[in-house]
Amino acid sequence: MSTTNRSGSTPFGRLRAHYEESRAACPACGHEDTEGEWRVTAAGRRVEYRHRCPSCDAVDTLEFSL
Ligand SMILES: [Zn+2]
Repeated sequence: MSTTNRSGSTPFGRLRAHYEESRAACPACGHEDTEGEWRVTAAGRRVEYRHRCPSCDAVDTLEFSL
């Protein structure tokens, strides 16, 4: 699976860009990760986004059903 799509170029990319913007600050420590690296895992109709805070290592997970 490709994760090299640029933000905004696909529906996933747009959704991802939206969450990167709204969830830029770590819920655990408040660190703002401006280079927010979300990993996207798609399985069937479920899409899971994971973000690891570079400051405190907290993992933020978002899950969607398409
Ligand atoms: Zn953090």
